Amino acid sequence: MSKQILILGGGYGGLLTALTARKYMTAEEATITLVNRFPTHQIITELHRLAAGNLSEQAVALPLEKLLRGKDVNLRIDTVEKISPDEKKVLMASGKTYEYDVLVIALGSETAFFGIPGLQENSFVLKSAADANRLRAHVEERIDAYAKTKNKADATFVIGGGGLTGVELVGEFADMLPGLCRKKGIDFNEISLYCVEAGPSILAGFAPELVERAQTSLEKRGVQFLTGVPITEMTETTVSLKDGSSIDTSTLVWTGGVQGNSVVANCGIEVNRGRATVTDFLQSTSHPDVFLAGDSAVVFGKEGRPYPPTAQLAWQMGETIGYNIFAYFNNGPKQEFSPVFSGTLASLGRKDGIGTIGANQTRLKGLPATLMKEASNMRYLSHINGLFTLAY
Ligand code: NAD
Repeated sequence: MSKQILILGGGYGGLLTALTARKYMTAEEATITLVNRFPTHQIITELHRLAAGNLSEQAVALPLEKLLRGKDVNLRIDTVEKISPDEKKVLMASGKTYEYDVLVIALGSETAFFGIPGLQENSFVLKSAADANRLRAHVEERIDAYAKTKNKADATFVIGGGGLTGVELVGEFADMLPGLCRKKGIDFNEISLYCVEAGPSILAGFAPELVERAQTSLEKRGVQFLTGVPITEMTETTVSLKDGSSIDTSTLVWTGGVQGNSVVANCGIEVNRGRATVTDFLQSTSHPDVFLAGDSAVVFGKEGRPYPPTAQLAWQMGETIGYNIFAYFNNGPKQEFSPVFSGTLASLGRKDGIGTIGANQTRLKGLPATLMKEASNMRYLSHINGLFTLAY
C-alpha cells in the first residue's frame, strides 16, 4: 500500500522535500501531501524588495500549484494547528486531521519579540509577501499624511535590528524614498530613516571592512545608524531606546531576530530552545518518523555551533530529507546531511551589495556582490522550475 508522506510547510525546506521525494518514489509507492498556509511558495529572501516596491509580487510569491504541477503532490492550503507525533496525527485550522507514515515539519521560524513592551502590537515585520505589501502601503500612507500635516513622526522610519534583514530593508528604503518623496512633492531631506542595532555594530559576523562599506554606502544615501542601543519599548508613535532617548515615529519595522516555530516547539518532539533537535539524517531525535527541514530545526556543525537559519540551508535539508524518506521506507542507508555553504550576500539597495563567497570566504563589494546575489536567486528559481514566473 502507498505510504503517506505529510509535509508541513511549502517554503524552501518543504517544497524541496516534496520535489526530491517524488524523484525517488512513484505515486504508487508514496502519496505526498504538502500543506501550506498560503497558496504560494514565497521567496522570503527578496521580501525587502517587495516592501519597497522594487519587485513585483509575482516574482516573490510563486503559485505552489504551478511548481507542483505534474509531480503528483496533493496540495492543501491550510494552517497547522496541532501536531501530535505520538498519535501520528496533525490537526489543521480547518478542522481536518491528517495521518501519516512519515511527517516532514518545515514550518520555518517566527519573529522573536523578546517580550519588549508594545513591540508586537505596534511594529511591522517582514515574514511574508502580505507583510511586505502591508508595509509598502503603510509607508506610502505615512508620506501622504506627512504631506498634509507635516507631523514629523509620519516622515520618520525606523528599522529595529541591524542584521541581514534590517540592513537589506533599509537599503531598499534608502533607494525608494527619494522617488516617492518627489512624487508626493516632499523634500527627501525632511525624511529620517534610522536603523537601530542593539549590538556594537550592524551585520555581526561580517568582516569589519565589509561592515564599514555597508554602513558608509547607506549613510551616503541618508540612513542614520544608531548602534549599541537596544529598543526597549514601542508605542503607536514612539520607539524608546535603552539610553533613555526616544524617536517619534509611526513606522517601526522589527527585524530584531527569529525563533523556532511555536507549533513545533510545543508539540512534544525534542527541542533545543524551541527548535527541534535532529540526527545527522535530519530525523527528530525523539521521533524517527518525523523529519525536519529549515528553521524549525537546529543543526549543529562539527565544532558544536548551530548553523544559522538560512534559505540555502533549508533548501539543502529538504533535498537530503527527500532522499532519506525513500531510504527510511526501504530500510536502506540514509544520507548524512552535509551542507555546502556557498556564501552570504547582502544587498544594499538596488545597486550595491557586500558578501563573502566560497570556502576561502572571498569578499565581494559593489556590483560583483549584487550580481552574485541575483545569480544565486536565479539559480534557486531555475532549480525549482520557477524561472517562468520571473516578473521583474
Ligand atoms: P538576526 O538575528 O540575524 O539579526 C537581528 C539583529 O537585531 C541583531 O543584530 C540583533 O543584535 C538586533 N537586535 C536584537 N534585539 C534588538 C533590540 N532590542 N534593539 C535593537 N536591535 C536588536 O535576524 P535577521 O536579520 O532577521 O536574520 C535571521 C536569519 O536569516 C539569519 O541567520 C540571517 O543570516 C538570515 N538572513 C540571511 C539573509 C541573506 O543571506 N541575505 C537575509 C536575511 C536574513
